[in-house]
Amino acid sequence: MFSTNLLSKKSVDDIWPVTGKRVLIRVDFNVSMNHDTIINDYHIRTAVPTIRRIIDQGGICILMSHLGRPKGVDSERADAAHKKRQISQYFQEHRGKTSFFAGLTADDKATILSWSTRRDRLTDHTTSRTSLFAKLSEEEKKELLFRFLNENKDRMFPQLSCSAGYEQEFSLQIAAQRLAELLGQHVYFTHDCLHAKHEVQNLRCGEVMLLENLRFYTNETSPDKAKRMRMATVLASYGHVYINDAFGSSSKEAASVTEIAKLMGHGAAGYLMEREISYFSKLLNSPPRPLVAIIGGAKLRDKIHVLENLLNRIDKLIIGGGMSFPFLKATGHSIGNTSCDEELVGIALEILKTAAGRKVEVYLPIDHVCNRFKDSPEKPVVTAGPDVPDGFVALDIGPKSIQLFSSSIALCKSAVWNGPVGVFEIPAYSKGTFGIAKAMADSTQRRGLLSIIGGGDSASAAELSGEAPRMSHVSTGGMASLELLEGKTLPGIAALDDKE
Ligand code: ADP
Ligand code: MG
Repeated sequence: MFSTNLLSKKSVDDIWPVTGKRVLIRVDFNVSMNHDTIINDYHIRTAVPTIRRIIDQGGICILMSHLGRPKGVDSERADAAHKKRQISQYFQEHRGKTSFFAGLTADDKATILSWSTRRDRLTDHTTSRTSLFAKLSEEEKKELLFRFLNENKDRMFPQLSCSAGYEQEFSLQIAAQRLAELLGQHVYFTHDCLHAKHEVQNLRCGEVMLLENLRFYTNETSPDKAKRMRMATVLASYGHVYINDAFGSSSKEAASVTEIAKLMGHGAAGYLMEREISYFSKLLNSPPRPLVAIIGGAKLRDKIHVLENLLNRIDKLIIGGGMSFPFLKATGHSIGNTSCDEELVGIALEILKTAAGRKVEVYLPIDHVCNRFKDSPEKPVVTAGPDVPDGFVALDIGPKSIQLFSSSIALCKSAVWNGPVGVFEIPAYSKGTFGIAKAMADSTQRRGLLSIIGGGDSASAAELSGEAPRMSHVSTGGMASLELLEGKTLPGIAALDDKE
């Protein structure tokens, strides 16, 4: 069973030479922020190898990313409003139309006069172009200058102070500063991703520029393909070569992800993208066996498709976290006050039957750490067995479960983990999740276990546990990694060229 979107893709190394070329790279700088500080720069650090490779070869990097979920504005509407505001401001500053015309270059003047309806009468070479312009009607002067300003907006108004749709908390400026520190060189920053033509053209070999948040324009992820395409057309005009290194942004169609590749007629995977594809491809298509999946998280409903797909591929299944309760109930255990609807119990039973039919060994928690209330860190209670007492909710797996799960992982050659096995955000309930992380990391370091972590919260938990650097691969793609585990094709990967 081979996922077509995981066929090996053309990579950075297949697109040489890029010397002197402007290389557009979709990166995923969607970092977690606290006010104006970056909490975790993993997404920026992991983009560095591709950027460095391009600049070392004398290429020019133009980086595009989104950050968070700003409201955004429609680019066409923003453009029209913006243009109107700027042009009227320009005329106010320059008072008369003729004096504005007088300040233009000879070429611009000639262009403007060539648009006149009276151009046959404007060929008098003895009179200056400005005097000829002065003779036109006021209406025509206005029309000609508007056309000129519209067509030359980027050149005439290069100093845009900020993008339409700008919201300070979602500005990528801070990511540009962090990237500059990591690269040890200046990183240029544009305040408007759709009006950067002029700035982009001024870049020299080996220089790097980051465009402001793409999602300040709703066109980026608009459901309307024409709108996405219009945005992609502008972005594509900035570069010669397109690379997608934003695995985490590749699960949806977006101007900077799928549409640019279509418009430019090519697309290569950056090193990070290549790494993500190669680990998931190995895991899903030819894993060293036995392969164990550790699936946790708050809700079974979120993970049904992941389980269905993985059951075709794995040898062992460890289930923990909030989603283990329908399974415990289905196997006759009491689950105390933990909520769990009957439909999920039925689904859990079906999954257990499928697992038995495919000879997949299933492990459920054999003890729990509980409390009376979900958010209470005070006086947690450890149960003796798999039953949760009445009046309690289970918030983490207990020590015997950690032991059982860890020894099962220790017998495997590959492990994929999605979903924390407890409310790891509260230290009192993080031991189970951190215990799993340690078991995976120890086996990776000591026995060469292929260890892969997918899912946003799981990656944060691995990072928080301190074990992330000891794993084979911690995916940068929250939703994207889950979708791969579900067996879906990611449009952003499908849009890239296959290796020849
Ligand atoms: P990922 O983002 O890695 O796919 P999920 O979003 O599915 O992971 O699950 C993460 C959430 O599951 C965490 O916020 C964690 O607190 C919660 N969780 C794990 N175990 C439990 C539990 N026993 N009860 C309530 N929430 C839990
Ligand atoms: Mg999550």
